[in-house]
This record gives sequence, C-alpha cells and structure tokens, in this order.
Amino acid sequence: MKILVTGGAGYIGSVTGRMLLDEGHEVVIFDSLERGHREAVDPRAALIVGDLRNRQDIRAAMLKTKPDAVVHFAAFALVGESMEMPEIYFTNNVTGGIHLADAMLEAGVRKIIFSSTCATYGQPDVVPMTEDLPQRPTNPYGESKLMFEKVLLWYQQLHSFEPVFLRYFNACGALGELGEDHDPETHLIPNILLVPLGKKEHVMMFGDDYDTPDGTCVRDYIHIADLAQAHILALKKGVSGAFNLGNGDGYSVKQVIEAAREVTGHKIPAKMAPRRPGDPARLVAAADKAKTILGWKPQYPDLRTIIEHAWQWHKSHPGGYRS
Ligand code: UDP
Repeated sequence: MKILVTGGAGYIGSVTGRMLLDEGHEVVIFDSLERGHREAVDPRAALIVGDLRNRQDIRAAMLKTKPDAVVHFAAFALVGESMEMPEIYFTNNVTGGIHLADAMLEAGVRKIIFSSTCATYGQPDVVPMTEDLPQRPTNPYGESKLMFEKVLLWYQQLHSFEPVFLRYFNACGALGELGEDHDPETHLIPNILLVPLGKKEHVMMFGDDYDTPDGTCVRDYIHIADLAQAHILALKKGVSGAFNLGNGDGYSVKQVIEAAREVTGHKIPAKMAPRRPGDPARLVAAADKAKTILGWKPQYPDLRTIIEHAWQWHKSHPGGYRS
C-alpha cells in the first residue's frame, strides 16, 4: 500500500514509517519539522515538508500522493503545555485535523489510522480501562484529540470514512537509531535519564498525594515499536473503531524511577514537587480489544526492557538527533 504518514518525522511516526517500509509499503511523510527531526526520516521514504495548519499544504500533498491510507500522528502532545497554551492545541490538532480530513475527502481517501490517546478518557472511574468508558478529558490535549475523533466519526457516518482510533497510553523506549527527542522534554522516562546522563542533578516527581498505592501517578508504559505494530495491523481493510494500546500494567512515578536506577546503575536522586495541572491519578489500559480484533501482541511489555532501549538511545544521542 501507499501510506501518507503525517508527523512521520516525530517519535512514534518515524518508527511506524520505518516498520511500514520494512513490510514493503510505500511511505510518504508529511511533517512540518517544527517538532520532528529530518534525521528521523528513513531515506527510503519520500518527505513532504508542510504544515497541517495551512490547508493548501496538506491538500497539495494529498492530491499529489493519492495514498491508499493515512496514518495521522502530526499533533502537539504535551499535557502540561496544553494547560498553558490551549489555543495551539486546538489550532494544530483540531483545525489541522479537519484540513487533513477534507483533503482526504477531496482526494477520495477514506482509511485513516489516528494517533489518539488515553487522555481522551480523563480520570477514569475504573482501571484497567476499556474503550467504552466515558471520555471526559482533563486537559486541552485530550480534548483536542477527542474533538478530532468526533469529526472522524461524523465523516465515517456521512462520507464513508474508515477511521481507526488508536488510544495510546504512555509511549516510550527506542528502536535502533530512532528515539525520543522533544524540546522541551516533559515526559517522565527521558527526564529521569537526564540524571545518569549528567545533564540534571535530580528528577522531579510531580505530586505524591494522589489516590494511588505510593501517592504518585500510575501510568501504563508501552514500547513505541509495539505501538507502531498496531498501526500496521489497523491498516487491514474493514477494521475501524477505537483500540486502547497499553500493556495493562500500571507503574507509579516512584516505581519507574526505581526501575531506571536498576537499568542504569545510577542513584538518580529524586525530589518531590507539586502536582502538575491536568494529570489524572491512574491510567492503565485494558487492551483485549486490540489483541482480539487486530491480533496485536506487544513484543516488549517489560518496563526494564523499555527503559533499557531508551537508555541505549540516549547514551548514543546525548544531545538528541543533533548529537
Ligand atoms: N512526571 C514526573 N516528573 C517528570 C515528568 C513526568 O513526575 O519530570 C510524571 C507526570 O506528572 C505523570 C507521569 O510522570 O504523572 C507521566 O508523565 P508523562 O509526561 O511522561 O506522560 P503523560 O502521562 O502526561 O502523557
């Protein structure tokens, strides 16, 4: 198949692009390079530099490429930033998404795999979380992803779109030369690894007064290669709907830091800080639907393996892709 990957120079998009190429697909990457990295684009892929916020950029790319399907990653994805600048989240993730969907409509493309998030659920009443839980986001990031899910549902009903919503839990790890390089970096695992890399004295833990066993937030950490694999499976004809992607294991912030100490052999001092606005206490996936319907089977479910892969990447890229 010919696949247009928006945000294919980003963290999860670059890994998915590479795995699609390895499986023999033709890949065209559409990325603004505002937060993505040219170095992360596989040389076998075509790269179109464009911005979803400019309707013409994506319209021209879509009409030129005429892909069989779109895998859509291009978005802002930081909870904390979204609480400070909601406007850039709605413009990029919602308006940009509508530009993409309208370009698909015009070009006759109907299949879209959308990189959605467990942040669309907000604070769940129960964990592990199934896809039918109410979606009540607690931050503009989650809200912007939910809004675009809803746009795609209407396009499914009225324009025969075939949307798949992959609701990721916490993406992490690395695959070979492809790893996590955000600026600013706000995610937990790369921030922890800055300490053994010698770039920070200690890691901050955002709150220990949550309703969790040790008071710190619990998350479900999932390897990016496993996330990427789910996109490839979701491209199968006839598949649509929402799928949670996680391992089903919850780890607290303190447990992740402890695991990183074991992997790196570094003491990694940690300090307590106030809660980060917008953070739900506990997010853990029930991914049975993805396993049953997509045939998805995570290859790297072990947290230490995930941190080990991230650690190898950060050691070999201490300055990120510019190293
Ligand atoms: N976190 C933390 N210190 C950091 C970065 C993150 O304590 O330096 C916490 C954050 O408050 C959340 C968890 O780690 O409870 C996971 O945060 P991350 O930003 O990695 O992912 P999110 O769940 O927000 O998508």
